[in-house]
Amino acid sequence: MSEQITSSDLLFDKEHIWHPYTSMHNPLPVYPVVSANGVRLTLDSGQEIIDGMSSWWCAVHGYNHPVLNDAIQEQLQQMSHVMFGGITHKPAIELAKLLVELSPEGMEKVFFCDSGSVSVEVAMKMALQYWFAKGNQKKNKFLSIRSGYHGDTFNAMSVCDPVTGMHEIFSGILPINYFAESPTCGFHDEWDPDSFQSMQNMIEKHHKELAAIVLEPIVQGAGGMKFYHPQYLTELRRACNEYDILLILDEIATGFGRTGKFFASEHSGISPDIMCVGKAITGGYLSFAATLTSKKISDGISGGAPGCFMHGPTFMGNPLACAVGVASIKLLLESSCLDKVREIEKQLIENLAVAKELKQVNDVRVLGAIGVIEMKEAVNMASIQKQFIENGIWVRPFGKMVYIMPPFIISERDLSFLCKALVKVIAIQ
Ligand SMILES: *Cc1c(COP(=O)(O)O)cnc(C)c1O
Repeated sequence: MSEQITSSDLLFDKEHIWHPYTSMHNPLPVYPVVSANGVRLTLDSGQEIIDGMSSWWCAVHGYNHPVLNDAIQEQLQQMSHVMFGGITHKPAIELAKLLVELSPEGMEKVFFCDSGSVSVEVAMKMALQYWFAKGNQKKNKFLSIRSGYHGDTFNAMSVCDPVTGMHEIFSGILPINYFAESPTCGFHDEWDPDSFQSMQNMIEKHHKELAAIVLEPIVQGAGGMKFYHPQYLTELRRACNEYDILLILDEIATGFGRTGKFFASEHSGISPDIMCVGKAITGGYLSFAATLTSKKISDGISGGAPGCFMHGPTFMGNPLACAVGVASIKLLLESSCLDKVREIEKQLIENLAVAKELKQVNDVRVLGAIGVIEMKEAVNMASIQKQFIENGIWVRPFGKMVYIMPPFIISERDLSFLCKALVKVIAIQ
């Protein structure tokens, strides 16, 4: 589809197409993109802008990558899709092998699904079905931490931050779950045992009704862009064992190298009972996700009525997505992505430090290939977006959070350009 986007196309878009989190009455402007290559998006005006978002954590290898293009084209010649009920195929087997090999110890059973939110639904359903299969109907609630984000479907929403996570709009309809305070001890701080107290209290009070604790390991993404101390997860694992609660780690944003480890749970060296992966799993090519679990959980589920896990999306194990997923993960391993992330981290720390001096800025923090500038006030999206584009970069803030998580392939020069333009725009807010 190479035709020009006309002004009547844009008018149609405005009147008929929902974009994420914007009004249909007076939508925020959208910028037509005609192609993307490496770390650059090309607008229909011909202007190229440097991508600071990896399309929401996904495009870790940048865009239009020849290896990923080849993988998907090769698979296309074989079959683009076939149902997964009663059928299997090489791309799914290869992808599952890689996930089992690279994920924390004990993660052995792979459930493929079509998006991150669905993988969270699947994880929560697995936890419930596990307890039900054991004859325990009481363990049917979930505990999470504030400032979390787990997706937009109903059960996922029910464990998102209760303030920013739309609980008010859907109160009375959303399942009621419990929330501990968000960990106060930062990733780089000295461990403060008090920061676990709120969680410990909630566990002691509610453990009999808790099927599982659900949270994002180390990095709380869309709910606040916070980085918390690895010891928190160590304490949590201990408490879950002690009180017989399952631990679900949502690695959808953090997985595949972003935080400086292949999976963020490695910062703590713990294994969850159930784990969600998505976003970067296909290198940003297709919507896809997976829920991984242990033999203990899958045995529990399979041992109870009805003897199987009750879920099966139509596009489960889509061969195109699996094939590009395999290629993307292999490329991450071959390109020593963790070394690259370490270099990006170092440069982000250096290049964003100047923002700390600005009066508009509350905090600057960096972990892996994630750089966050927390403003004192919420930014004006429409105007700041325009200024970013005028300065040649693509950055999409939310509220007070202005953050970048560039593709891992970004050069030192492009990252320097991205950071400079970012700080320049921040300074004029
Ligand atoms: C994006 C995200 C999700 C939801 O994934 P979708 O593919 O958008 O449904 C869930 N959890 C976390 C941590 C995420 O960042």
